[in-house]
Amino acid sequence: MPKHYDAIVIGTGQAGPSLAARLCAAGQKVAVLERHQFGGTCVNTGCIPTKTLIASARTAQVARRAASYGIDIPGPIAVDMKRVKARKDEIAGESSRGVERWLKGLENCTVYEAHGRFVAPHEVAAGDERLTAERIFINVGARARIPNLPGIDEVPFLTNSTMMSVDFLPQHLLIVGGSYVGLEFAQMYRRFGSEVTVIEMSPRLIPKEDEDVSEAVQQILEAEGVQFRLAAECLALEKRGNQIVTRLACEQGAPEAAGSHLLLATGRQPNTQDLGLDKAGISVDSRGFIPVDDQLQTTVPGIWALGECNGRGAFTHTAYNDFEIVASNLLDGQQRRVTDRIPAYALFTDPPLGRAGLTEAEVRASGRPTLLGKRPMTKVGRAREMGETQGFMKVLVDAETEQILGAAILGVGGDEVVHTLLDVMYAKAPHTVVRRAVHIHPTVSELLPTVLGELKPLGN
Ligand SMILES: Cc1cc2nc3c(=O)[nH]c(=O)nc-3n(C[C@H](O)[C@H](O)[C@H](O)COP(=O)(O)OP(=O)(O)OC[C@H]3O[C@@H](n4cnc5c(N)ncnc54)[C@H](O)[C@@H]3O)c2cc1C
Repeated sequence: MPKHYDAIVIGTGQAGPSLAARLCAAGQKVAVLERHQFGGTCVNTGCIPTKTLIASARTAQVARRAASYGIDIPGPIAVDMKRVKARKDEIAGESSRGVERWLKGLENCTVYEAHGRFVAPHEVAAGDERLTAERIFINVGARARIPNLPGIDEVPFLTNSTMMSVDFLPQHLLIVGGSYVGLEFAQMYRRFGSEVTVIEMSPRLIPKEDEDVSEAVQQILEAEGVQFRLAAECLALEKRGNQIVTRLACEQGAPEAAGSHLLLATGRQPNTQDLGLDKAGISVDSRGFIPVDDQLQTTVPGIWALGECNGRGAFTHTAYNDFEIVASNLLDGQQRRVTDRIPAYALFTDPPLGRAGLTEAEVRASGRPTLLGKRPMTKVGRAREMGETQGFMKVLVDAETEQILGAAILGVGGDEVVHTLLDVMYAKAPHTVVRRAVHIHPTVSELLPTVLGELKPLGN
């Protein structure tokens, strides 16, 4: 006999646990399924461990630059990768254990440590058990996409997940993929002491960003010794002795790049292929994402898809916002929608890139009259005082409504500073609110009113 619940949550990523907790608090009987590590990607192989490692890498870099601040560190800077990894394991592990303890301690919640698979629209197999519920919430996330490159079966490779077990210094790390994940690892390992070569098929890095952003990020990383092979076509992999060789062009032989280890950072693939979705009557799109409406319900009533698996966001904050939307609509009588969300994210290189709203290219394509404000970080007092003057801030404003359309803050504190603009965008307030605000001196945010006071029409 199947066990009946009010709700089943499949996956404990960034939406499922919070949703389960809200449903349980509302008196509903909830089954939560997790097949691997509690907390999902962000906690175990994504945001938390990578930002923890990035903090170690930054410390090494600051130590190397100490002399420029008048501080002498006798002897070379040594990175102990075992201790770097142990610190990461401790911080990420505590978060994962915290999610597990939380769920297992929730009243009305039953946790199944099993793979969930639909056997009917409202029935799920959890290992040997069968569970039924009127409401089912899919929060299964995504994993590293492995490109079907010639030679892929003949070479050992790493992904963001297996990188988490690395407790040694790769002599030369080849990274295929010059976007967000690849670049964070590139700078991190260069700072740990590896040689690093990033191989990117597009002519520029992070091609979703504006060209000036791509260029500046490349310059920042090149200055630290990261090497780039852009516009790399017809990639093919080969093992040669103890080297991994990546061929970079369609012609036979050279050019090629060789390294001791290979990391594939070529995008994400939703975990939807082994969910029995066909048994539930749910089909996926061409990339495996589950189509949902503006309130995140799938095409089958009573089944929702939250987080990365719905293709509506690839971040922890978007997955968490999915939880907030669904919980508010089901439990609080609200009508929240995913299209109310303003795109925002960061690239956690050092300095970081904080992004909100539209890019300059998107604004140009829209054809609307636009004003642009831009300032290099060399003209930001706090950045100069800190000796971290790489990057720039750029803000785009609608010339008619005066509302902020988008921003890119590439520079020290950029991941935090961008929120000043993001909140004004959510308030649908004109940019003059920020322009007239008195910001604290000396901060990076202090220059935002200045940038907005120097807006110029966006030329061709
Ligand atoms: C290297 C890296 C760095 C990142 N850094 C950031 C960052 O700094 N900031 C940011 O916002 N985002 C970052 N992300 C993205 C972020 O981690 C993800 O967008 C986020 O974790 C997605 O959450 P989710 O809830 O959709 O699913 P996930 O966190 O992926 O969780 C899904 C869970 O479902 C489980 N599961 C899957 N299938 C089943 C099944 N059939 N039955 C039972 N359980 C199942 C999985 O085991 C997993 O625990 C990063 C990603 C990577 C790879």
